[in-house]
Amino acid sequence: MITANKISIEVLPNKEGYFGEYGGQLVPPELKTELDNIASAYEEIKDDPDFIKEYNDLLKHYVGRPSPLYFAKNLTEKLGGAKIYLKREDLNHTGAHKINHCLGEALLAKRMGKKKLLAETGAGQHGVALATAAAIVGLECEIHMGEIDVHKEHPNVVRMKLLGAKVVPVTSGGRCLKDAVDSAFGVYMQDFNSVMYAIGSVVGPHPFPEMVRDFQSVIGREAKEQIVEHEDKLPDYLIACVGGGSNAIGLFYEFLDTKVNMIGVEPSGKSFKPGEHAATMTLGKPGALHGMLTYFLQDDEGEPLHVHTIASGMDYPGVGPEHSYLKDQGRVEYVTIDDEEALEAFQELSKVEGIIPALESSHALSHAMKLAPTLDKDKTIIVNLSGRGDKDVDFVVDRLGM
Ligand SMILES: *Cc1c(COP(=O)(O)O)cnc(C)c1O
Repeated sequence: MITANKISIEVLPNKEGYFGEYGGQLVPPELKTELDNIASAYEEIKDDPDFIKEYNDLLKHYVGRPSPLYFAKNLTEKLGGAKIYLKREDLNHTGAHKINHCLGEALLAKRMGKKKLLAETGAGQHGVALATAAAIVGLECEIHMGEIDVHKEHPNVVRMKLLGAKVVPVTSGGRCLKDAVDSAFGVYMQDFNSVMYAIGSVVGPHPFPEMVRDFQSVIGREAKEQIVEHEDKLPDYLIACVGGGSNAIGLFYEFLDTKVNMIGVEPSGKSFKPGEHAATMTLGKPGALHGMLTYFLQDDEGEPLHVHTIASGMDYPGVGPEHSYLKDQGRVEYVTIDDEEALEAFQELSKVEGIIPALESSHALSHAMKLAPTLDKDKTIIVNLSGRGDKDVDFVVDRLGM
């Protein structure tokens, strides 16, 4: 959507929301009816010139797009191989890529006559981006957050409140992200008329994986134009971190019909033992999670496993169904980076380029730093710098004892 560029490969998902065998709408009938309403509203507005103009104006004047594609000269010279470019999503208003799809979801909700945006949040990044979108578009916003996260992520709780959102601490179960999802869904099921659930990544039932991807695909469209300006050719590699997978598919989507190599980087956390990582596609199996069929980390009963990573934005046992499909197709390679490696990359970029990256993005960067020296100097790599690291500074200082 929102582009003249057409891809020649099969356009997915299909009408039922499947990417190959992944995706779909594994939800109760009442919810399916509402999701179908959202899907058809989206089908209508995505080609509506007024909607496109309103969305693009916000991206340009409010978010500050296009985000730069920056040649990391110092880092490249230090590594002595392929040229590393950074797609600077960290420079967006609110400091990450999430605002791209939150604004899209907010505009859609408003067009559908909804009054309120509802969501869960883990570390609070999605909550802050959504509260921001709700404020600018003029909707109410209610964010459910596990009580443990409310304490851990105090600054984001304050931000959401300042932005006018209602933050609901969730005290059931493990009081974490998973419980926040259940709690928020409980509220949603009571009131489809005035509320839209705004999912925070390319996950969940159709049409969210498609919608969120389309809204994020602006990253790749810009990057393609920008790299051609710099290099007069397409890049050799795209690298992005994968939590739910929205920033990665946002970068990849425009390049799917090209020969460009694509690498998604998952967090292997402390170790490959169950509960100590979030390497969904590396170690997970396909199954049903949160209304979709996809790879996820599960026990023998098919229950989602606990996950760990220092990057709280990637603290999710599943992944968007399109990534599951791209993995099986062999179109995207998925690799892992652990906590220590991500921390090293975090410090390296800060020192060498004067850019403090999010710990999530540091995973992508770390892989790029391994790959670049193995490639010739005429090769190019684009790393999606999905967010800025200001939110992680206190944690890193504690951890490193600085
Ligand atoms: C949330 C977040 C991620 C992970 O989410 P995806 O849907 O996989 O993109 C990555 N980077 C940052 C900065 C985030 O806030």
